[in-house]
Amino acid sequence: MNARGEPRVRLGVDLGGTKIAGVALAPDGAVLAEHRIAAPRHDYAATLRAIGEMVGKLEQGAGARGTVGIGMPGSISPASGLVQNANSTWLNSQPFARDIEAHLGRPVRLANDANCFALSESVDGAAAGAPSVFGVILGTGCGGGLVLDGRLVDGPLSIGGEWGHNPLPWATGDEHPGPRCWCGRNGCMETWVSGSGLEADHARVTGEKLASEEIATRAGRGDAQARASLDRHASRLARGLAHVVNIFDPHVIVLGGGLSQLAHLYAELPGLIAPHVFAERGLTTVRPPRWGDASGVRGAAWLWEKP
Ligand SMILES: [Zn+2]
Repeated sequence: MNARGEPRVRLGVDLGGTKIAGVALAPDGAVLAEHRIAAPRHDYAATLRAIGEMVGKLEQGAGARGTVGIGMPGSISPASGLVQNANSTWLNSQPFARDIEAHLGRPVRLANDANCFALSESVDGAAAGAPSVFGVILGTGCGGGLVLDGRLVDGPLSIGGEWGHNPLPWATGDEHPGPRCWCGRNGCMETWVSGSGLEADHARVTGEKLASEEIATRAGRGDAQARASLDRHASRLARGLAHVVNIFDPHVIVLGGGLSQLAHLYAELPGLIAPHVFAERGLTTVRPPRWGDASGVRGAAWLWEKP
């Protein structure tokens, strides 16, 4: 309820590189309105205006003013207040939080898109009720977010849960130093376990450039090379997740992004993670997402779950 006793409407906006999606949620998480537009590219001022129009449309649809949360690529640097690490590069070094609050005339909560995914699955998704959650996005890139007792864990550098640019642990000889990553390092998790990482690995080993969906389809038909690529991928993903388990020990890991559709991961990962975990028994729970692509907007809206 807000100060006037009206039920609260939460607006979530997912600012992507090519589209902006928005949703208005009722207090119980029901969708009151949703909207999607093409994202203005390489135009910061137009991006602010587009978000303003999106919020107007959602409030019209919901019939109420709402709180606004925005999921974005990269994050706001707590040190400078400016956007960092966004692959929508026209956002980088902009005072986006200040500008969008001025444009909308209200406080706005912002979080990285992987954090929004983790929060959405924690609030009313695949990890609802779990005290601690690690949400992982395996898409073009590889992001992560940590939720503890319903709150995002976001530290002084605003990179909590960002495991994609850690090196692959327990690397074997032929995995070291690993592929060059766009971030300037070698052998980052992202270069191995993202959708593009899986495709690049398959191409390096077989000489054949295939989309990850096609690799999965061929493996399902019994293609030994495709199966071997999925096996290498699952082993690497498990080792990377074991690293997180040894630090955070999440009750549930939820996978998101395109590769979260690979059903074998849920059966195989717990057993593949276990040998690298510093515990004598017990398996880490790994689940598919409930909300999938909708977690970006839903998690953004839930940034206002706790006052
Ligand atoms: Zn990297």
